[in-house]
Amino acid sequence: LKRRKREEAMGAISLRDIHKNFGAFPVVRGVDLEIADEEFMVFVGPSGCGKSTLLRMVAGLETISSGEMTLAGRRINDIEPRNRDIAMVFQDYALYPHMSVRENLAFGLKMRRAAPAEIDSRIAEAAEILQIGALLDRRPSELSGGQRQRVAMGRAIVRRPLVYLFDEPLSNLDAKLRVEMRLQIKRLHQLLRTTTIYVTHDQTEAMTLADRITVLKDGLIEQVGTPTELYDQPNSLFVAQFIGSPAMNVVEGVVIGSGRDISIRLDDDIELPLHAYDLRAGHRVMIGIRPEHLEQPRHGEKPNSFALTGTSELVETLGSDTFALCAIGSLRLMARLTPGRISAPGQRIDLELNLDRLHVFDAETGLHLP
Ligand code: ATP
Repeated sequence: LKRRKREEAMGAISLRDIHKNFGAFPVVRGVDLEIADEEFMVFVGPSGCGKSTLLRMVAGLETISSGEMTLAGRRINDIEPRNRDIAMVFQDYALYPHMSVRENLAFGLKMRRAAPAEIDSRIAEAAEILQIGALLDRRPSELSGGQRQRVAMGRAIVRRPLVYLFDEPLSNLDAKLRVEMRLQIKRLHQLLRTTTIYVTHDQTEAMTLADRITVLKDGLIEQVGTPTELYDQPNSLFVAQFIGSPAMNVVEGVVIGSGRDISIRLDDDIELPLHAYDLRAGHRVMIGIRPEHLEQPRHGEKPNSFALTGTSELVETLGSDTFALCAIGSLRLMARLTPGRISAPGQRIDLELNLDRLHVFDAETGLHLP
């Protein structure tokens, strides 16, 4: 497959202080973001955070209230959608029902007056990438959900745009197909290296697809980073709880003592020793514990761990991993179990908390404490 010859940074997108108001209601409230050429950027955030609106502004389907947007160094604020060299794949596929798959794929190119031979070769290429060659003469109504999704992607591929935009493209598919199509999209990006912005509220999709993730909240960027950065170094409780499955445990605590050797009281009987945090006595914090950092003791060295004992209340097996919701004093914490060691609820369970992997957030601001 030949890629279009491109100059450097052809697909780079820059958003500078982007705002969007619907009437008096601000939905996007000042977004600054640089998306690199060839990057796979995922926008995530809860419903209503403005991620679709931001994507639709990049597509040109919404006007920009203020701020500047550039593609390949060119200001695109006032450029018509069809002249932006951007292709969007929608959640509902938006296929023409009365046309065959082949006609659906050809439509955009015909509108652009591409030569018939060129149209044929691009359709053949897209059909091969997406393995839809056998479906070209069918109507959309004769396709499964996953096949329709692939045709929708095919329509974007044949255009060979500078940028692909995806707005929750997998949310109408069943769980198995979602995983399959997710891999397909990832493969497509590895093959074509076209700059991509992908909107989802599914953190697993975000983690598995993205080069970088932008977490949005109330129309503002909460954090931008690689999946690993967001997972290991969340700036805030919001990001910490949004990224990761099962979700991070969060427990409120209060600082006891002062100086370099403090402890955090989580419960009448549980005080976690903490070093190298400079917090004053009485400071209210939120302690974040990933389930995999609360585990059954294993043989061998465990340098900085804290022993806890509880009772498993619920046991959840996700195939490769087993998690248990454990009652530990008044706390309820999700722990990762050693496969095969425990399965039934109601059993006493010894756990070790890795103190080096704790996250400490300010209870008031939700910000990660250094
Ligand atoms: P979801 O995951 O639910 O799609 P989202 O993060 O994509 O959410 P947007 O669709 O960008 O959110 O919407 C952000 C906010 O803007 C919401 O409060 C929504 O109600 C509002 N909104 C979106 N489109 C319009 C519109 N055309 N007119 C008025 N308000 C709108």
